[in-house]
Amino acid sequence: MHVELHPRFAYTAQGRSARALTSACVHCGFCLPTCPTYVDSRDERDSPRGRIYLIKHLLESGTATAQTRLHLDRCLTCRNCETACPSGMQYGELLDIGRGMIEQQAPRPVVSKILRALLRFVFSRWQLLGALLGLGQTVRPLLPGRLRSKIPVRQFPGSVPAEQHARRMLLLEGCVQRAATPNTNVAARRVLDRLGISLVSAPQAGCCGAVNYHLAAHADGLDNIRRNIDAWWPYIENGTEAIVSSASGCGAMLVDYGRLLAADPAYAEKARRVSHLCRDLGEILLEEDLGKLIVNTQVGRVAIHTPCTLHHALQQPKLLATLLERAGFEIAPTTEKLLCCGSAGTYSLLQSDISKRLLTNTLRTLTSAKPRLIATANIGCQLHLQSAADVPVRHWIELLDSPNTE
Ligand code: SF4
Ligand code: SF4
Repeated sequence: MHVELHPRFAYTAQGRSARALTSACVHCGFCLPTCPTYVDSRDERDSPRGRIYLIKHLLESGTATAQTRLHLDRCLTCRNCETACPSGMQYGELLDIGRGMIEQQAPRPVVSKILRALLRFVFSRWQLLGALLGLGQTVRPLLPGRLRSKIPVRQFPGSVPAEQHARRMLLLEGCVQRAATPNTNVAARRVLDRLGISLVSAPQAGCCGAVNYHLAAHADGLDNIRRNIDAWWPYIENGTEAIVSSASGCGAMLVDYGRLLAADPAYAEKARRVSHLCRDLGEILLEEDLGKLIVNTQVGRVAIHTPCTLHHALQQPKLLATLLERAGFEIAPTTEKLLCCGSAGTYSLLQSDISKRLLTNTLRTLTSAKPRLIATANIGCQLHLQSAADVPVRHWIELLDSPNTE
């Protein structure tokens, strides 16, 4: 696809990147049936190809409308289209640039700006989010059903093992997961402890930056990244083996640190190193001897939900099935291919109608073989699925943490 850049973008690095990315699209349309929003609406403007055309128009005309912004907002950033594209389209990267430009060319109404700023503020601060969730959990039994389903049940994660092993890895504690499902990272520490690995965390590290970056607050997102790099750097210099993420959405952000800070001379090299060291928790486990774990596998059929970030961004579509099968769990078969569940960060709050329809479809597919529970690998998906599922939805590491499952 040929793009003639408008003078406004012709001399900017973002304009040139967007032109190069857009030109990879050959308009074949193979991505359309894989796009959840196109399958939902059958509107070409809600498809990957349609959105690429909208961004091309923005790049060439230098202007955008509220309608363009709406169709870009409706994208889940699931990146299913990247996996389907025979032309190697880097759609997620193009969308981030397009969304940043839209904020300038088609500013939002004030109410929308305030709502998005509020979501960014709360979701990227785990202490604040934890305090608000704690309040919600206290009054949860009194709330009406729909609101109650949005508040996760309070978890009591139990004991944290001492950092006693020579093998050490850094753990990204994150923000939403840390506040909403503390079981996950404590289970990860216990499981790796049994395998002779200590997970350590850097107190100054926080949100991976995805909340800000994917809501087009790019400067704030990059600041989150720089803060994490500063917090982790002493551990990296000390020879940490890996930087482990137990939420695939955060892991997808970490692997992008090198690209996102490539133009920052003070951080480019460090960011590349962080991305190189970043591993999903499942990738770590896959290389270890799971026979050393005493796992209670008698929990009934487990339906596996592979988040889009694990499947498409981290390119690990079979990781969860391989791990849980190897550990001895009975896996519930699914007949249809899964599309995005509709969680997608803050999408379930900002595009709730589409999100609900995608959630219904995903749960129908996941529960078709009557599983006893659903295992997933990303906090957003876990909370979203649990809000409507009639079986427990857990992070897969909890299943390998035998004290919690016996
Ligand atoms: S599959 Fe790739 S090349 Fe084909 S229309 Fe979609 S993005 Fe463009
Ligand atoms: S990222 Fe997902 S929702 Fe967005 S265009 Fe691609 S397939 Fe569609």
